[in-house]
Amino acid sequence: MAEVDASARRRAEYSTDASLYRLPPEVVAFPRDPDEVVAVVAACLELGVPLTARGAGTSIAGNAVGPGVVMDLSRHLRRVLALDPEAATATVQPGAVLDDLQAVARPHGLRFGPDPSTHSRCTLGGMVGNNACGSRALAYGRTADNVLELDVVDGTGRRLRAGPGGVGQVPGLEAVVRANLAPIRTQFGRFGRQISGYSLEHLLPERGGDLARALVGSEGTLAVVLEATVRLVQAPAATVLAVLGYPDMAAAADAVGAVLPERPVACEGIDARIIDVVRRRGRAVPELPKGAGWLLVELGGATPAEAEAAAGRLVAAAGGDALASRVLTDPAQAAAIWRIREDGAGFGGRSPAGAPAWAGWEDAAVPPERLGAYLREFEALLADHGLGGIPYGHFGDGCVHVRIDFPFDRPEGRAVYRSFVEQAAVLVAGHGGSMSGEHGDGRARSELLPRMYDPAAIGAMAAVKAVFDPRDLLNTGVLVRPRPFDADLRRTMVRPVTARLGFGYADDGGDLTSAVHRCTGIGRCVADNTAAGGVMCPSWLATRDEKDTTRGRSRVLQEAVNGTLVRGLASPEVHEALDLCLACKGCASDCPTGVDMATYKAEVLYQTYRGRLRPAAHYSLGWLPRWAAVAARAPRLANRLLTTPALAGLGRRLGGVDPRRPLPTLATRTLRGWWRRRPPPAPGPSGGRRVLLWPDTFTNHFAPGAGQAAVRVLEDAGHRVELPDRPLCCGLTWISTGQLDVARRVLRRTVDRLAALVEGGMPLVGLEPSCLAVLRHDALELLGADDPAAAAVARAASTLAEVLGATPGWRPPELGGLAVVAQPHCHQHAVLGWDADRDLLARAGCQVTAVGGCCGLAGNFGAERGHYDVSVAVAEFALLPAVRAAGPDAVVLADGFSCRTQLDHLAGRRALHLAELLAGAAAGRR
Ligand SMILES: Cc1cc2nc3c(=O)[nH]c(=O)nc-3n(C[C@H](O)[C@H](O)[C@H](O)COP(=O)(O)OP(=O)(O)OC[C@H]3O[C@@H](n4cnc5c(N)ncnc54)[C@H](O)[C@@H]3O)c2cc1C
Repeated sequence: MAEVDASARRRAEYSTDASLYRLPPEVVAFPRDPDEVVAVVAACLELGVPLTARGAGTSIAGNAVGPGVVMDLSRHLRRVLALDPEAATATVQPGAVLDDLQAVARPHGLRFGPDPSTHSRCTLGGMVGNNACGSRALAYGRTADNVLELDVVDGTGRRLRAGPGGVGQVPGLEAVVRANLAPIRTQFGRFGRQISGYSLEHLLPERGGDLARALVGSEGTLAVVLEATVRLVQAPAATVLAVLGYPDMAAAADAVGAVLPERPVACEGIDARIIDVVRRRGRAVPELPKGAGWLLVELGGATPAEAEAAAGRLVAAAGGDALASRVLTDPAQAAAIWRIREDGAGFGGRSPAGAPAWAGWEDAAVPPERLGAYLREFEALLADHGLGGIPYGHFGDGCVHVRIDFPFDRPEGRAVYRSFVEQAAVLVAGHGGSMSGEHGDGRARSELLPRMYDPAAIGAMAAVKAVFDPRDLLNTGVLVRPRPFDADLRRTMVRPVTARLGFGYADDGGDLTSAVHRCTGIGRCVADNTAAGGVMCPSWLATRDEKDTTRGRSRVLQEAVNGTLVRGLASPEVHEALDLCLACKGCASDCPTGVDMATYKAEVLYQTYRGRLRPAAHYSLGWLPRWAAVAARAPRLANRLLTTPALAGLGRRLGGVDPRRPLPTLATRTLRGWWRRRPPPAPGPSGGRRVLLWPDTFTNHFAPGAGQAAVRVLEDAGHRVELPDRPLCCGLTWISTGQLDVARRVLRRTVDRLAALVEGGMPLVGLEPSCLAVLRHDALELLGADDPAAAAVARAASTLAEVLGATPGWRPPELGGLAVVAQPHCHQHAVLGWDADRDLLARAGCQVTAVGGCCGLAGNFGAERGHYDVSVAVAEFALLPAVRAAGPDAVVLADGFSCRTQLDHLAGRRALHLAELLAGAAAGRR
């Protein structure tokens, strides 16, 4: 029998998808093969328990949540089973991820046509469930247009191979079709994005009675897919992106009619307000032509020249109405824009007024020629209700995405939601549109189907449901016999948590509940983000368990702050969920919703252990700066003790450190000790700019060589280097172990002193990225965003590369062609950014491979008992393979002390800090 889990933590993880709804299942099942899926269906039938199939759970309308059993098919049934390049077909298991199928198809010049923005994690089973579309459905059709055959088990427990001509295979189905020919012929399949309701048109005799296509879009209410055979399409060899700017989104929509005759692969609309959010988050945005709303039009060709010529024709034909246009031929720039577009739902998670914005009315579609008119009336409807939202979407197909700031935090929120959605449904139906243009109906729109289908059509759908699932067990409450769309709402802000918090949560109104509800379930954390240089979520990459995703953790936290499944932040469920969080901060930058799990983890540890006995590692690793300062009085003796096996073993046991981890060796002379005894530097050029080099605990006690190298490099660049007059720690280890009162005291002292030193604009250079990130970000959260000293220090805090890059006349040493494998520290990736380092290395002529992901040690995480295996698995995901592939001659660059320690321990490679690389090269030059 399939693996099942009925624990409160697991039920919390699966209590919602990317929608507004909260419906904790009783049990979550993880079948390992098709027979186990059939067995789960049989068990549900026997017990009369509802069953919801689930892929990646990225549905936005509550399609993938349900009472009873939720069956996660993405865990074990993930394989692409076969690909036939001649026939251009592929056979996949239901949990196969779209990007994995694309990766297998790409070498043959093939691809699966439809591409939802969630392509990095959405499953083929889920795409079949929702009849998923995406940007390129414009050229290649919807999922229904690309499915050839489905192996399914239906709600009677019957196993079927569904394909063309399959209607006669199912007793009673042909009779239903015959009895409902008129409504099926007149009301179904009217336009491409009519996703709402079943696609009964495929059952018509003149359409070949295609059972597979008819099952697509049935949202798991008729059958569960066990295997799918799909059609692949030829991908154009070259594409370019034409960007056309308009005064607003409605004007952009009006122009779609002129674009479509040029047969684009994709034609998307994007609003300037989304671009503003992206810029505010510090992400680079390629230059866009003038406008407040843009059409992004992708054109294909057999060669780049052919694609460019197509773009030229488009601009000539359709550009007349535009304010300006730009053709992007650089694939990297086009990819950056597509990435912004794909993250639209995350970036649109706040309304123009900054209020949380919700799914609910998310993907309605109208025939494209009605789009401009619809958008204008839609904006007026929003204004009538005092609501805001930023529309964008698949304009070429007439499909509009928007998140709306329904006031769910106020008593009238639910009534406003109902009133708005009912009127929006009338508006869409009036334009001949569909309530859903690609996400499916789920719990959000099934109740609205009578607005676009008459009673005969609704009756036909109910009759089909009765044939496949007479006991109404499959995805109960969706499509047929729907739950009200305002039932089971996730009460996102019902109980604010504002008192006695460790952090300020300035961007969430000081409320932890709002902070943890930032996660809307879009699922960027259940994907491999490392290839694109991202970090999130290393623990999931290692375990592939929902428990270890940013999303799963958020769900458990949401239940802890205002649900009923989990009792409080100190509960075992919350601690289990957070145990494998590396506190890498990857989510803080990679998740478009701005979740910061490292902060929430520190808060949970703070709330749980305040005034109580803590885990041993909190005293050993959490207090490391103090132990290091004591040991530094006799470093040789300390090192001897730490390397004596019996003593080291005892120390590890008492300190909660994994027995396989070597203990770090103290430098025999700290950076500060070296600085004090160093002969005064030769007088540099007059007017050299003063720079404060800050010896963080790790550089000072464990890696003074990096500090000495930095002094040399900065002086060579003409700076006058100064060090603070006393040891100053940022409190990082107390933050990551949730000892926030100590961290605040330590930081207060440090920040006040540093603020006095940098007064007058002196830059502060930090060498350990995680410590520098505390000064730039966490200090403001702990001491208050309005704390003038913290703000001054945050402004001054700079990486070495940033200061060197801004030094007039400074040139990096010539390292022509040197192969460098660089591991940007995860806190640097999330808080400080690595662009200045990338530029510097490029200017030096290095051949850089920048590794995405985390090193796996992540400060205290990988050293703590119980984390070793995951720590190694994380390192094995990207970093170690990259280092091995680069060979022994490549320089391995890692500014983080943790990253260097991990590389030393697991790969036997001594990695360099950037300062060491530059100083070494300069010494060679001298
Ligand atoms: C940020 C964001 C952007 C999105 N962009 C797009 C987009 O551009 N285009 C688009 O079409 N959609 C989009 N979606 C919606 C969603 O991602 C897609 O519909 C996706 O294909 C769902 O796949 P999934 O694996 O997450 O399925 P799930 O959400 O897990 O399930 C989807 C439905 O299919 C059913 N189901 C799952 N597996 C099976 C199975 N084996 N057999 C039968 N039924 C099954 C479920 O019960 C559910 O009803 C977006 C969602 C988000 C959060």
